[in-house]
Amino acid sequence: MTDLTKLSLAETHRMLLTGDCTSRELVQAHLKRIEELEPSLHTFITRRSPELALADADAADGQLQGIVSNPPGLIGIPLAVKDVLSLAGMRCTSGSRILENFSPPFTATAVQRLIDAGAIPLGKTNTDEFAMGSSTENSAYGPTRNPWNLAHVPGGSSGGSAAAVAARLVPFAMATDTGGSVRQPCAFCGVTGIKPTYGRTSRYGLVAYGSSLDTVGVIARSVADVAMVFQHMAGYDPLDATSRQVAVPEYALPGSPDLSGLQIGVPEEYFIEGIQPEVESAVRAAIIQMEALGAVTIPIRLPHTEYALPVYYLIAPAEASANLARYDGVRFGPRMGGESGIWEMFTQTRGRKFGPEVKRRIMLGTYALSAGYYEAYYGKAQKVRTLIKRDFDQAFEQVDLIAAPVTPTTAFKFGEHTDDPLAMYLQDIFTLPANLAGIPALALPVGYDKNGLPVGMQLMGPNFSEDLLFRVGHAYQLESAWHTRWPEVNF
Ligand code: GLN
Repeated sequence: MTDLTKLSLAETHRMLLTGDCTSRELVQAHLKRIEELEPSLHTFITRRSPELALADADAADGQLQGIVSNPPGLIGIPLAVKDVLSLAGMRCTSGSRILENFSPPFTATAVQRLIDAGAIPLGKTNTDEFAMGSSTENSAYGPTRNPWNLAHVPGGSSGGSAAAVAARLVPFAMATDTGGSVRQPCAFCGVTGIKPTYGRTSRYGLVAYGSSLDTVGVIARSVADVAMVFQHMAGYDPLDATSRQVAVPEYALPGSPDLSGLQIGVPEEYFIEGIQPEVESAVRAAIIQMEALGAVTIPIRLPHTEYALPVYYLIAPAEASANLARYDGVRFGPRMGGESGIWEMFTQTRGRKFGPEVKRRIMLGTYALSAGYYEAYYGKAQKVRTLIKRDFDQAFEQVDLIAAPVTPTTAFKFGEHTDDPLAMYLQDIFTLPANLAGIPALALPVGYDKNGLPVGMQLMGPNFSEDLLFRVGHAYQLESAWHTRWPEVNF
């Protein structure tokens, strides 16, 4: 019998339409896997009740059998939602104790669009607190484990979503990327994901972290699957003032892997000393493979790359410190110490319910924004951000897209970087520039290290070039098999 957790989304859709499987069977197959593997992996913070998911599946089956001539593209297919995106009727913790009892009365636009396309949520996935982190070790609900090796982190902050997709608990999951949180966990878990152009997907209903950087993306097991989901999610939303009125094209993928005429930039600054040799060799091998498909590679420079880390770690905490001001025990959050006056209430609520990394970011951000330091830190960071963006603008005058590693190393072990915030921040060195520039980036697996841990490559393109990234990534996946490997989760 077909294992329904191993199908592509296109195959799944076809089988549902022909009646070769039902949505109930599909949902049940995934619920069973969740039942078996979730105790070892901990990918969810909150699971939706199986009865509700199965009721949705039955409704989808009814629709599929009924009169619908052109059923919605994701009808009857289960998904998971990162726990920073609102889904009415379920709590939305953002990985934080301060929101442990928060149930939003509305659904995020990006989530709603997938539900409107027929997808069935199975739950809310684990994340570093307020999406601040690169390992899920900052989640107040405990970390997620990497399905390739349970002693290693799955990456973060969308580690729950990436691990759930890699372990086949769901066919696809929603995730967010402020500084790498779609791509880095994809690289660590051997799955594929898109960090869209800033403004391509709606942020309405997303718990804000760094508002000028936040994007909502998709994680799945192939470029074709990612593109199929993204088709339904992308587009203008009047409820998000920063979403852009740019038409969403039909993401049609090539049937054959032909990259002739494509110019790929290879930035010197992304192949630096200290990068794990197996990461470099796997990414270089993938680039050579794209050359074999007809692409031309051109060495390029992105000279301000080295400033991305300090710039990001000023801008993101600055925006976070403003965004997190609302969790004060009055508007959001459990109220603590209220009997001793308002200042005591603020202090106790925030002091007890925020975790250490969130407090660190609030302090960094508040300092960077404070009178007397604003120009020196936040103001200067904004100026350097413009230089980083210009690097990309200039590069895209020369090349169609840029290929680079996602991370300097493969998945590290639990606890390896928890005592050293800088070492943890260095994980983001290759992912931050795309967020600062606002450009889209697609992460996909290109190999494994000697311990069997996945290596990821990212393709970055000009604004609104998701279409091109999907076509090139798909062409590569037609010719490679890295994305078709499954982790054997051992207990
Ligand atoms: N690791 C980065 C941070 O901690 C990026 C996280 C993200 O993209 N949400 O800020």
